[in-house]
Amino acid sequence: MTKYLSRPPDTPEGATMYEWANDLFPICRSLTGEGVRQTLAYLAEKLPQLKVHEVPSGTQAFDWTVPDEWNIREAWVENEQGQRVIDFADNTLHIVGYSTPVDQVLSLEALQEHLYSIPEMPEAIPYLTSYYRQDWGFCLSQNARDNLRPGKYRVHIDSTLKPGSLTYGEIFIPGDSKSEVFFSTYICHPSMANDQLSGPVVLTALAQWLASIHTKLSYRIVFVPENIGSLVYLSRHLNDLKETVTAGFNIACVGDERNWTMMTSRTGDTLSDRVLKHVLTHEVDQFLEFDYLWPNRGSDERNYCMPGIDLPVSSFHRTKYGEYPEYHTSLDNMDLITPDGLADSLSLLTRVVTILENNHVWKISNLGEPQLGKRGLYPSGGNHRAGHERQLSTMMNLLAYCDGSRDLISVSERIGEYAMNCIPILERLAEENLVTKHQT
Ligand code: ZN
Repeated sequence: MTKYLSRPPDTPEGATMYEWANDLFPICRSLTGEGVRQTLAYLAEKLPQLKVHEVPSGTQAFDWTVPDEWNIREAWVENEQGQRVIDFADNTLHIVGYSTPVDQVLSLEALQEHLYSIPEMPEAIPYLTSYYRQDWGFCLSQNARDNLRPGKYRVHIDSTLKPGSLTYGEIFIPGDSKSEVFFSTYICHPSMANDQLSGPVVLTALAQWLASIHTKLSYRIVFVPENIGSLVYLSRHLNDLKETVTAGFNIACVGDERNWTMMTSRTGDTLSDRVLKHVLTHEVDQFLEFDYLWPNRGSDERNYCMPGIDLPVSSFHRTKYGEYPEYHTSLDNMDLITPDGLADSLSLLTRVVTILENNHVWKISNLGEPQLGKRGLYPSGGNHRAGHERQLSTMMNLLAYCDGSRDLISVSERIGEYAMNCIPILERLAEENLVTKHQT
């Protein structure tokens, strides 16, 4: 069902992004702590421009406060025979995120109060956190839980929860203009593939590509712990962002091949909404569109689009969080994402960038219909093949509708053509001085 997008030269291969995700998969990330730092340090090897920022626990971010820093070294449950029946060393999802330290012996009945599983998905280990309520717990498959026999269990969690800092990463790639395109993704989930690693690896690849080309617009990419990280970032940079960001995108769950999905900004009519919808309409057979209503929104766009902040941020996904059975479980693993899924997501974002780079308001500089033949723009007798006919009608329609009142996306939509196909024709018309950039 997926039309493969043609991939611009110099973009990293899907296999490369997949390998990065595979390297990052075992790390235990959380809202704060060493896992986030390790993840950013790994991405910084690919992106020397990546700057890592530390924000102390207790820092206020609007209505929220940066929590204490959580780190974990070991966590396991042992039966009376000394066998580890649950071990964080096997899968980072086994521990409820932000679990407080524990070392005690409990009956199975008492232990059950701290165990979490999904009866309808007996193979899956769920992903749970307890960021703002101090507690501890273990997640395990229902099958493993059913195998626990009555008796005594020793529970050991070697974690620390104390003042430290929240860590986030930021890349700025300057262009000719101060106008910016903003991308955001989150880096706080432990070992999951689509709903964690796909976003950061695709944006790392996009940043590599952006750094390798000359751009008119500037690009800012942030890697933040979800929710609190975007609040912290906004609380520090809101005024600048409001001045410079012309389009923005939250990128998450972009590694599988099942769907194409967009979620609009709160208003639904921003430049980001328009360009993303235009590209999806022309590049893929079908896509799902969600609006900003709760509970569709669930990631950092919740903050980016709130009243008073009002950044033009849309969301792009393949299969959106909350919309697939493996979501927030151990089944969201490296088998769920594919090199092609990642590569197609990257290609789509390069189309979004290309159109934003070219989204000028054009104006015809001639009165009346220009004479194309004398400029070699009119297909000659034997040249009336279907491709030429289409190119001619696109050119004629561009000339008629580039009246200085519509940007590239709007003109393309009015004439029923993909902006990617209009760009080279407009460039050719500009060479002949038949159209000029009215404003940018
Ligand atoms: Zn999630």
